[in-house]
Amino acid sequence: MYDYDLFVIGAGSGGVRAGRITASLGARVAVAEEYRVGGTCVIRGCVPKKLLVYASHFSEEFEDAAGFGWQVGESKFDWKTLIANKDREIDRLNGLYISTLKNAGVETFEGRAVLKDPHTVEVAGQTVTARYILIATGGWPNMPDIPGIEHAITSNEAFHLEEFPKRVMVLGGGYVAVEFAGIFNGLGSETTLVYRKDKVLRGFDDDIRGRLDIEMRRKGVNIVYNTVVEKIEKQADGLKVTLKNGESCVVDQVMFAIGRSPSTKGLGLEEAGVKLSDNGAVIVDDYSRSSADHIYAVGDVTDRIALTPVAIKEGHAFALTVFGGQPVSPQHDNVASAVFSQPPIATVGLTETEAREKYGEIDVYVSDFKPMKYTLPGREERAFAKLIADRKTGRVIGAHMIGPDAPEIIQGIAIAVKAGLKKADFDATVAIHPSSAEEFVLMMNKRD
Ligand code: NDP
Repeated sequence: MYDYDLFVIGAGSGGVRAGRITASLGARVAVAEEYRVGGTCVIRGCVPKKLLVYASHFSEEFEDAAGFGWQVGESKFDWKTLIANKDREIDRLNGLYISTLKNAGVETFEGRAVLKDPHTVEVAGQTVTARYILIATGGWPNMPDIPGIEHAITSNEAFHLEEFPKRVMVLGGGYVAVEFAGIFNGLGSETTLVYRKDKVLRGFDDDIRGRLDIEMRRKGVNIVYNTVVEKIEKQADGLKVTLKNGESCVVDQVMFAIGRSPSTKGLGLEEAGVKLSDNGAVIVDDYSRSSADHIYAVGDVTDRIALTPVAIKEGHAFALTVFGGQPVSPQHDNVASAVFSQPPIATVGLTETEAREKYGEIDVYVSDFKPMKYTLPGREERAFAKLIADRKTGRVIGAHMIGPDAPEIIQGIAIAVKAGLKKADFDATVAIHPSSAEEFVLMMNKRD
């Protein structure tokens, strides 16, 4: 009766996983992608970002090498080489995603798909029908409506700049803003971060936020709080940015990282009976089903937790629920996440403020230490780790870290937190010495 059992709009992390698993369950699946298979994370997000983060670490590594007896000759950074190598890797991953879909028996349409009715999609000049439709269109960076905004970029363009900017201003205080401020600064740009409030990374643990501020400044990022951009003017020597606080400066690039909005405009969703929230996100139930029967949504477009691994879990759960006869509701509690700022941050569970609100009586343990690697080079940078336990049960309900390798360390800690282990279980665990990770099993003193 229908051309396909499932038509997926958007071949990002969530859409690809949902399509692949659904096809493996014997269903006829097609997916439409208007840009490149792989989505934000692979094409212009997590993956290229992390490659740029690696590149930006070398300036410090070269400095620190001297403390270990190495003499590094004069070093020189070439942006064009980095971007060409990064593009090659992204092309490779894009190819892998394309072949994954093909090998799974999923048909791919190149083009923008628009719903014509709850079971009909128009894409690449064709009209196709499907029993179920999955919206997995992700999100898109926001831009403010200010004079001269056409001169500014978002992270999308930052990955493809022709020239490396010697002076950069990054606007925002979230994940993308602090990550790119670190990248530009590490690669040698004079970097200014402008945030509308007084501490970056709202929603993260306050101690961690404070530490990031200190360490970013120590590394040379100029941070300006409590203001936003009023206008941008192009002039002979660069872009003149005027801030609402009256200050102004001239830079080579202005990058906005002020959040992302769900990509639902012009998809014909509301006409098909799909309810959207005020910010355009598809409203879904615990099983990712929208208000329209047979139309589901996963990933950033639902504005639940905008992280690739979450979208993948949601896509997988959708496939099992709808085509596997096995209702699975993706879990959104204790989701670990990392910010690849410099130093990096990783976290799982509740912040101290959230824990106090939810549990009342809590025990907080902290460790403030200098990573061993920084001793010989004499680097001032410090790391910080924190555990929060429910006083009544002893269960660890939050773990946070800022410092080298924090994402690698917290991934393991997240298993313990997710499993509901207690502080006593952490204490009973033998340390790996010498490491930074051992701090999490050696925190003996409660903080007052
Ligand atoms: P975020 O929502 O993390 O941060 C947006 C920032 O912009 C906030 O600091 C916000 O301020 C500020 N802001 C919002 N509107 C304005 C405005 N009109 N003028 C000035 N400032 C404004 O968005 P990002 O774009 O950084 O990232 C989007 C999402 O992508 C993240 O939430 C995350 O889920 C995901 N992501 C994850 C990464 C990772 O896992 N490492 C990396 C990159 C992205 P305020 O705090 O006051 O609201």
